[in-house]
Amino acid sequence: MRKPKIVILGAGYGGLMTATRLQKTVGVNEADIVLINKNDYHYETTWLHEASAGTLHHDRVRYDVRDVIDRHKVEFIQGSVEEIKMDEKRVILENGDIEYDYLVIALGAESETFGIKGLKEYAFSIVNVNSARQIREHIEYQFATYNTEVEKKDERLTIVVGGAGFTGIEFLGELANRVPELCREYDVDYHKVKMICVEAAPMVLPGFDPELVDYAVATLEKKGVEFRIGTAIKEATPEGIIVAKGEDDVEEIKASTVVWAAGVRGNSVIEKSGIEAMRGRVKVQPDLRLPGSEDVFIVGDCSLIINEEINRPYPPTAQIAMQQGEVCARNLAALVRGKSELETFTPDIKGTVCSLGEDDAIGVAFGKKMVGTKASFMKKMIDNRALYMIGGPSMVLKKGKFNIL
Ligand code: FAD
Repeated sequence: MRKPKIVILGAGYGGLMTATRLQKTVGVNEADIVLINKNDYHYETTWLHEASAGTLHHDRVRYDVRDVIDRHKVEFIQGSVEEIKMDEKRVILENGDIEYDYLVIALGAESETFGIKGLKEYAFSIVNVNSARQIREHIEYQFATYNTEVEKKDERLTIVVGGAGFTGIEFLGELANRVPELCREYDVDYHKVKMICVEAAPMVLPGFDPELVDYAVATLEKKGVEFRIGTAIKEATPEGIIVAKGEDDVEEIKASTVVWAAGVRGNSVIEKSGIEAMRGRVKVQPDLRLPGSEDVFIVGDCSLIINEEINRPYPPTAQIAMQQGEVCARNLAALVRGKSELETFTPDIKGTVCSLGEDDAIGVAFGKKMVGTKASFMKKMIDNRALYMIGGPSMVLKKGKFNIL
C-alpha cells in the first residue's frame, strides 16, 4: 500500500515542532515526511529584536534545520513556497513542485503596514534574519557616517520605532542598551541620539498589567526613549515620518531610521492560494484543520484561534505555535493510522514576559507578576525552553542563554 506523504511548509516554531514530534511518533513505514523551508536554517523569531539592535549576533539566533531533524525519517527541502494548489494537492515552489496527501501550513507572519504611505519603501520591519541584519547594519552605518560629514546631520542619530506593542518595546529595550556602545565606538555625543516610540493607541503594551507597563515606560525613558503615545504615523518619507496627534497637530520627525513594529499578518501565500483569511490568518477548526478540508492543517501565525473568554483572537505567539505543532503532529499520526477522531487544540497560556534589554524585563508567569532581573531570568528560561522543546538538551547547550544575571 502506498504510504501517505505529509508535507510541512515552514521550519519555524510551529513547523519544526510538528516535524520533530512526528519523527518521534510516526514510523518510516507509516508515512513519508517532507519539511520545506526558505532557508536551510531555523531562526528564533522571538530573538530577532536582539539581532536587529545588534546586541546579539544573528548567528546566535539561528541553527541548521538538519541539526534537529532525523534525516532517515524527514526529508528536508530548501525552497520558497509560492502557492498551494489545494484542488490538485500540490505545492508550487520557486524551484519545482511537490504533491501531498497531508499538508501543514506553518509559514509564519509578515509585516502589515495597513496601507500607510511610504512604510513599505522607507521603514524596516523585524521579520527574519535578513531584515534584522539589515537594521543592525543600517543603524551602525548612520553612526559611522555621522562624524565623516562636514555638515553634521542629526537625523542620522534619530531612530523612530512605530508601535509600542511587544516587538516595539522589546526592540527599544535592546536599542537603549546598544546606543551607548555605538556612541563610544563612533565617538558620537550620546545627547545627540534620539530614540522615539510612536504609538497610535492611547497606551503602551495593550493587554499588559498597568503596573508592569509603568515600570517598562519608566525604565525605557530613563535610558533615553521618548514616547509619543496617541500619535499616528501618517506617512514615511526618505527623510523620516509624518505624525499626527488629532486632526490638526501634524508634525514631521526627521529620522534616518524608521522601524515599523506595529503590525503583523499571516503569510501572503495563504491569500495567493485562494484560502479565505483575515489578513493572512485562517480561523482554523478546533482540530487545527482548514475549514472544509480533511487534510490541510494550519499552525502558528497563519492560524487564528478565538479566545472564547473575551471573544477575541489570541495574539500570535511562539508559545501557541509550538503547542499547536504538538497537537498537529498527534492528529497527523492519528490520520495516517486510519483514525478519524482528532484532538481539539486548547492553548495553555503559561504567561508572557517582555524583555527590556539583556538584564531587565516585565512579565506574568504562572499567575505571578515580576520585573527586573527576576523577569529577565524567566525570559531566558522561556527562550531556552523553546530550544529544548525542538532540539533537546544539545541545542540548549549550543545556543542557550546562560548569562543569567
Ligand atoms: P515562524 O517561527 O516565524 O516561522 C515561519 C517559517 O516559515 C520561517 O522559518 C520562514 O523562513 C519560513 N517561511 C516563510 N515564508 C516562506 C515561504 N514562502 N517558503 C518557505 N518558507 C517560508 N512570541 C512569544 O510567544 N513570546 C515572545 O517573547 C515573542 N517575542 C517576539 C519578538 C519579536 C521581535 C517578534 C518578531 C515576534 C515575537 N513573538 C513572540 C511572536 C512569535 O515569534 C511568532 O508568533 C512565532 O514565530 C510564530 O511561529 P510560526 O511557526 O508561525 O512562524
